[in-house]
Amino acid sequence: MAHPHSTPANTTALQSFTLPDFITQPYGEGKTWAEGQWMKLFDGRNEALVTLALIFLSHEFIYFARCVPYLIADMIPALQKYKIQQKAIQNTAQNQWKVFRFVLLSHFLLELPLIVGFHPIAVHFGMAIAAVPFPPFKKMVLQVFLFFVFEDFFHYWAHRGLHYGPFYKHIHKLHHEWSAPFGLAAEYAHPIEVLILGMGTIGGPLIWCYFTGDLHLVTTMIWMTLRLFQAVEAHSGYDFPWSTHNWLPFWSGSEHHDYHHMAFTNNFSTSFRWWDHLFGTNRKYIAYKARKAAEAKAQKAKKAL
Ligand SMILES: [Zn+2]
Ligand SMILES: [Zn+2]
Repeated sequence: MAHPHSTPANTTALQSFTLPDFITQPYGEGKTWAEGQWMKLFDGRNEALVTLALIFLSHEFIYFARCVPYLIADMIPALQKYKIQQKAIQNTAQNQWKVFRFVLLSHFLLELPLIVGFHPIAVHFGMAIAAVPFPPFKKMVLQVFLFFVFEDFFHYWAHRGLHYGPFYKHIHKLHHEWSAPFGLAAEYAHPIEVLILGMGTIGGPLIWCYFTGDLHLVTTMIWMTLRLFQAVEAHSGYDFPWSTHNWLPFWSGSEHHDYHHMAFTNNFSTSFRWWDHLFGTNRKYIAYKARKAAEAKAQKAKKAL
């Protein structure tokens, strides 16, 4: 006689417990959950308008949402030991409010019109917009990595150029108003700087698209999201044990860019440390770190006595 629990009804219940399609279904084979949502977004609507809304709203949401953990950290005394610059305090409520209003205005008056122009240019360069299936995951990872490398190289030279006398005085000085930056200050910059450095973010996908004709808007949006994460983290002013550069040593991160704001020189790159290393624009930073380490060692030895 069969065991009472192994009834056909129970077997069916167990078999019906499956993972959602968007996890189990391989990309490219049929429509996944995410692809279905993407289709619904564009279905029967103006593709240019949906693209505009998608990019602008996700940019607003991701930028400000990424700042929230740092705003919370500001209110937790136990986390203040992770603040990179212990003496210079610029993340006051008054400064954050000033920067918030500036950045919001810049988003509406400058970035919104630029995003309006994105769809026709992207289509001209052959980017897939509403099309499904999405590209295979591996392809997305590779393309996003290439955009990181391109942006980092472009930013390195453009940023170095912005430190040249008149360019610094009339354009880049505004971003350097904060010598001890905080997350919200990532996009606190002169409109011309936003235009120049923004080319590093969008230039990679457009050039790639021009030469290969193989890029999807969803990949471009993943790249833009990660680029925003990078920028806010770099300006956060905090170096937590879990911060990216502590587990990815070649990642620039907050500790690298914070020095640039503090010293007004060295460390011109955004994501990776290799260009500053290769072109010798990290020497003062390395010397400063060695000095700090020696000081910390001497303090420890003094305490031990
Ligand atoms: Zn600078
Ligand atoms: Zn900066």
